[in-house]
Amino acid sequence: LLDALSDQAALAIERVMLAEDVDRAKLAAETERLRSALLTSISHDLRTPLASILGSATSLTRYGTALDEPARLELATTIQEEAERLNRFIANLLDMTRLESGAIRPRTGPVDLSEVVGSALERAGRILAGHRVEVDLAADLPMVDLDPVLFEQSLFNLLDNAAKYAPAGSQVTVRARRVPAGVEAQVMDEGDGIPPADVDRIFDKFYRVHAQDRQRAGTGLGLAICRGFVEAMGGSIVAGNRRDRSGAVFTLTLPAAADLPMPEETAP
Ligand code: ADP
Repeated sequence: LLDALSDQAALAIERVMLAEDVDRAKLAAETERLRSALLTSISHDLRTPLASILGSATSLTRYGTALDEPARLELATTIQEEAERLNRFIANLLDMTRLESGAIRPRTGPVDLSEVVGSALERAGRILAGHRVEVDLAADLPMVDLDPVLFEQSLFNLLDNAAKYAPAGSQVTVRARRVPAGVEAQVMDEGDGIPPADVDRIFDKFYRVHAQDRQRAGTGLGLAICRGFVEAMGGSIVAGNRRDRSGAVFTLTLPAAADLPMPEETAP
């Protein structure tokens, strides 16, 4: 009986091992498929801006002298904007790699939110030039426990999206108020918003809601980086839609800096 049982056990183990091999082969094939999809996507994102830089630069060198000043300026502006787009894409790829390898170690400390909001808005100035920007920060905001560099980058990515996905002339709002968990900061716009089924998936790497988003400058990495950074600092971020009108809302909950001890508590 023992022999029979051990034969059966051996057979069962063999079957499991075979199934594991099949699973492993499937996993390897799936990894390979993802890797090649990723390469295609990255090559596309690098090539599109490069093609327009090359086109504009060629026009300038070939016909520059025959063109009038506004036409030359337009070509130079295209070169500048597309080079900035490439720069952002590469910065995003590096940020993603650093996040995934665990090389991001936030240097948190008490931060004045209004200062970081100010510097993120300044950095996004040119991108947001066609929008109206409203800043609404509560007067009683406590200091927040953040890494200012990572937080500015996270805000910048949200502002960049608001500019991209909401029409020119519409309003982009940055708001912050005190909540029991710390501080709640929001970036909202007046675009089409996000389909409810996608509110969480948009934080996945390379996920983009619409096929036509491919035509818009972007990498599908901005929100993944944003969530990675915010969570690394002990905060959270969720996406949703406005109730009062059409538009997306991104809500960040950030830990308040620990209250400074009262003088009597530190006394011996
Ligand atoms: P990217 O903007 O480069 O595509 P993101 O990770 O920043 O990548 O965003 C992922 C997707 O989420 C976008 O492609 C877009 O479909 C959607 N999205 C992000 N922000 C907004 C927004 N403010 N309004 C509507 N859709 C948005």
